[in-house]
Amino acid sequence: MLSNKINFFCPNCSSDKYIGKTTIGKNYKDEPYKNVTSEIQCAKCFMDIPSIISENISPDKQNEMSKLWNEIYKPSHKENAAQCSKCFRYYWEIEKYLSENNISTKDIFYQTYNPKKSIGNLICKICDPSSFKLN
Ligand SMILES: [Zn+2]
Ligand SMILES: [Zn+2]
Repeated sequence: MLSNKINFFCPNCSSDKYIGKTTIGKNYKDEPYKNVTSEIQCAKCFMDIPSIISENISPDKQNEMSKLWNEIYKPSHKENAAQCSKCFRYYWEIEKYLSENNISTKDIFYQTYNPKKSIGNLICKICDPSSFKLN
C-alpha cells in the first residue's frame, strides 16, 4: 500500500482516497490532455484523473475542478479509455465491480486478435473469468 502523502481530491466523485499516481508514458497531442503528464486513480470511482485537476486542490477550487473534469477532461478520457468489447464496461466500472466482489483488479483485460485494428479487442475479467484463473 502507498502511504497517503498526496493531497487528493477526486473531481469525479469528491473522494479523497486514491490508489496511486502514474506518469503517462505516451504524450497526447490533443487538448485537453496535452498538458497532462500524470494521473491519480481514485479509490472510490476508480477513474484515472489528471493530477493537474486532482492534486493539492484547495477547497475553494474544488467546484471549478469538478466542472473542468466533467465538461472538458471526462469526455476525452472516455474516448481513449480501455473498454471491454463484449459488455462495453469501461476499465473503472470493471475495477469497481471486481473490487466490490473481492476479486483482484490486476490484469482486468485480455486481448483477442482483431486484424482490423492495431490492438486486439479487449475482453474483461467479468465476461470471461475462467481465462484469468492462472493470474
Ligand atoms: Zn472518484
Ligand atoms: Zn466485459
